[in-house]
Amino acid sequence: CGIVGYVGPQSALDVVVAGLKRLEYRGYDSAGVAVLADGGLAAAKRAGKLVNLEKALVERPLPSGSTGIGHTRWATHGGPTDANAHPHLDNAGRVAVVHNGIIENFAALRAELEERGHALGSETDTEVVAHLLAEEFSATADLAEAMRLVCRRLEGAFTLVAVHADEPDVVVGARRNSPLVVGVGEGEAFLASDVAAFIAHTRSAIELGQDQVVELRRDGVTVTGFDGRPADVRSYHVDWDASA
Ligand code: GLU
Repeated sequence: CGIVGYVGPQSALDVVVAGLKRLEYRGYDSAGVAVLADGGLAAAKRAGKLVNLEKALVERPLPSGSTGIGHTRWATHGGPTDANAHPHLDNAGRVAVVHNGIIENFAALRAELEERGHALGSETDTEVVAHLLAEEFSATADLAEAMRLVCRRLEGAFTLVAVHADEPDVVVGARRNSPLVVGVGEGEAFLASDVAAFIAHTRSAIELGQDQVVELRRDGVTVTGFDGRPADVRSYHVDWDASA
């Protein structure tokens, strides 16, 4: 339902949780975050309101890192449980993904992954993406390229945002029939399903086009089509009142 991603000098967890709060008005049944820190990936997720997640983060704090993603879920596949909440991770715990929308062909992809030895732990349509990204990343060592390869195999409507512990300064996003906006700051970059999530930090935004993948780094963003071709990027200034 709501998605936030961040890379930059601030605490990614703080930026992401604050962003998710700005998206609460959309409604949701679960929430979760993942941060890259100390060469690894740490995640927390809880059914229920954001306050449940915040309580879990107080009880078991995540290491502080400068790259992170977050999600508020409106369940479509699998009930609103901790296990079904996003982010979803691969079996090695190196990649994390959050998703808005529906992946129509997830059952066939899931069967294929299970045949190759992957163990899937949720009932969501989303989890297959984490496992597919892990496979493609081990072949390419490039998360944006892995995302392009995976997206070409997906049917349905989706916004996807992912991080990989082996690319600790990168957040990758993709969209098809579902919104995703990039916020470009100075030495930092944001991704969200709605500019409300990052308007407190930057008003320079890029609307991602249909079937595009974006790679976020501190020093800028790169946008391509799912086919890998560089895309035209038109940034605009968000001029509505942030306090609204
Ligand atoms: N289809 C996904 C799920 O049920 C994502 C739902 C959403 O858009 O929040 O987990």
